Amino acid sequence: MILGVSINVRETMQKINIKGKILFDVPLKDHTTLKAGGPADIYAVPEDVYDLMLMMKALTECSISYYPLGAGSNVLVTDSGFRGCIIDMSRFQNISVRGLYICAGAGIRLERIIREAASRGLTGVEHLSGIPGTFGGAVVCNAGSFGQDISASLEWADYFDSAGNLHRFHRGESPFSYRHSPFHSGEVIIEAAVRLGIGSSAEIHSRISRARNEREKRGHYSHPSAGSVFKNPPGFEISAGQLADQVGLKGFRINDAMVSEKHGNIVVNTGHASSSDISRVISVMHQRILEETGIDLEREIIYLG
Ligand SMILES: Cc1cc2nc3c(=O)[nH]c(=O)nc-3n(C[C@H](O)[C@H](O)[C@H](O)COP(=O)(O)OP(=O)(O)OC[C@H]3O[C@@H](n4cnc5c(N)ncnc54)[C@H](O)[C@@H]3O)c2cc1C
Repeated sequence: MILGVSINVRETMQKINIKGKILFDVPLKDHTTLKAGGPADIYAVPEDVYDLMLMMKALTECSISYYPLGAGSNVLVTDSGFRGCIIDMSRFQNISVRGLYICAGAGIRLERIIREAASRGLTGVEHLSGIPGTFGGAVVCNAGSFGQDISASLEWADYFDSAGNLHRFHRGESPFSYRHSPFHSGEVIIEAAVRLGIGSSAEIHSRISRARNEREKRGHYSHPSAGSVFKNPPGFEISAGQLADQVGLKGFRINDAMVSEKHGNIVVNTGHASSSDISRVISVMHQRILEETGIDLEREIIYLG
């Protein structure tokens, strides 16, 4: 073995004739908003659908596991990294607007879609303002805010299944729920479309500003983080953040990993936190909330590696 992958695998991957890049031993802390975690053995950046198809075929033939990555704003990579291939979707940047529909590549940032919608007086995505993820990542995580999720406006999504076959998911085909989508079996979303409504431009811009200001107040951008650590518990009036506050977790730290002093459901990297520091803080949070309130919170941040 050389640096994680065998020479054979390295040669096979290097032989794939694609326009995009295939890299090896890439530190994932540079590709996640928490700025922590070890390397990926292989880091592929397909340029288009054809690249992605060739790559997925080669990965399947070599029995190499793969993991699509958007902006890395909802994942914590372990310090030992990922033994497989990260598929970086950042080159899927197409966007087009047709009437009430915005169709966009999976790698496009939510902010871009929100801007595009606002400039045309289209409403329905403002609540996502300030979420630092990609369109693909948002669909997979069913991202949302202020009580509204992206699934409410999602019309369709094109994706490859793990066998490399292309499909179109249509609205209503399978259920989405709070921070949960039907895409959890190795699918790679390549593009999707939202259906929006016609709104007042002034109101759309005002909702966008309010969402951003609210996030700033909650300290979302003061340090690297991955947003909410836990989902809000179903059936309770209280949020995960309020539970963390109640049991005195704000400011709790292990080395450079700390529960945000502004928001009890966010763990921030105040400097050089390792992934293990962060996951230990998260375990303490979970344990303490369970012991003191009896509520068993479910993690929202996804662990990788
Ligand atoms: C400051 C901050 C605030 C946040 N606020 C919110 C919030 O209010 N609401 C909320 O819901 N989330 C929030 N988040 C979390 C996160 O931004 C969202 O979940 C976002 O949608 C994740 O998108 P991403 O591109 O970063 O996905 P990633 O973190 O890269 O990936 C998340 C998951 O999606 C999968 N994935 C990504 N792209 C694809 C693709 N093309 N095909 C298949 N699978 C894919 C990955 O494999 C992984 O399982 C916040 C995060 C931060 C840092």
